[in-house]
Amino acid sequence: ISLANQIAAGEVIERPASVVKELIENSLDAGADQLTVDIEKGGRRRIRIRDNGAGIVKEELALALARHATSKIHSLADLEAIQSLGFRGEALASISSVARLTLTSKPAAQEQAWRAWVEGRDMSAELAPASHPDGTTVDVEDLFFNTPARRKFLRTDKTEFTHIDDLLKRIALSRFDVRIVLNHNQKTVRNYPAVAAQDALQRIAKVVGSSFTDHAHFIEAEHLGVRLWGWVVDAIHCRHQGDAQYFYVNGRMMRDRMLNHAIRQAYGDSLSDDRSATYVLYLELPPHDVDVNVHPAKHEVRFHQARQIHDFVLQTVREGLRINAV
Ligand code: ADP
Ligand code: MG
Repeated sequence: ISLANQIAAGEVIERPASVVKELIENSLDAGADQLTVDIEKGGRRRIRIRDNGAGIVKEELALALARHATSKIHSLADLEAIQSLGFRGEALASISSVARLTLTSKPAAQEQAWRAWVEGRDMSAELAPASHPDGTTVDVEDLFFNTPARRKFLRTDKTEFTHIDDLLKRIALSRFDVRIVLNHNQKTVRNYPAVAAQDALQRIAKVVGSSFTDHAHFIEAEHLGVRLWGWVVDAIHCRHQGDAQYFYVNGRMMRDRMLNHAIRQAYGDSLSDDRSATYVLYLELPPHDVDVNVHPAKHEVRFHQARQIHDFVLQTVREGLRINAV
């Protein structure tokens, strides 16, 4: 069992940022709107995430660490209409097979908080009472302590932390209503207060910078149940590679060639080759028109009407740029 978990962990857990991603998805699935992320040494020493979500009852703490134990899928219909972020029921099991994981949780209706952890390779969880406010903390220490080969692939603490920081930016732009605090080695590095939807630009300024918001134009269009909205920067203010490129499909950040192509094409010749399109865009469409689970770790998406989506994005962005250019 443990070996199978470690193999599975290889697919999902490449580096500290992959752990952070899985844990935050769980917190968001649990309805949390406050996240505190504590990182030590780029995540190799510690990744700890505290949320104020629904929590896990004592009876299910050990189960949450077991493989293929998910509380989110009950039928094939659920799988097809999947709304929650995680559903494979393997993140916690995978992480706990390659790190020292402690899960502490208190549902609001439960008087006492409880803590669960797994010792060694046999995967049987220990339980003890704990002290914790409503919500959950997952503490992941010494990532890859038992998998030296994997550990060798980690880069410097600074690089690993940058991956985590980038991930949190992507999340911060997908959930304006969630407060996120990021600490590295005991110092607060980011603090994104929750904002109301109409104040989204405040958060975007915090996450992407005012160089983006100063030149961003709002665009919005809807066609046959598909809606695109967000901000694009006009070509003269787009700069080099590495500028902000955020595209969300039903709340999930995607890096999709077809979508990139559509946006790039919308800029046309106005964007010289050494510049990148710069945008924060949100595409919303019925869940059954899109397959976001093509590969769990990649940011690819499969649209059932790919051509129409491509053209819709192209038209909307082009229109937005043209109107704002006048
Ligand atoms: P999945 O998210 O695919 O269900 P995970 O291994 O990531 O699988 O988590 C296992 C289970 O543990 C979840 O289904 C959920 O019930 C519970 N869980 C994990 N993290 C949290 C959290 N932060 N708050 C509440 N429940 C959680
Ligand atoms: Mg999960």
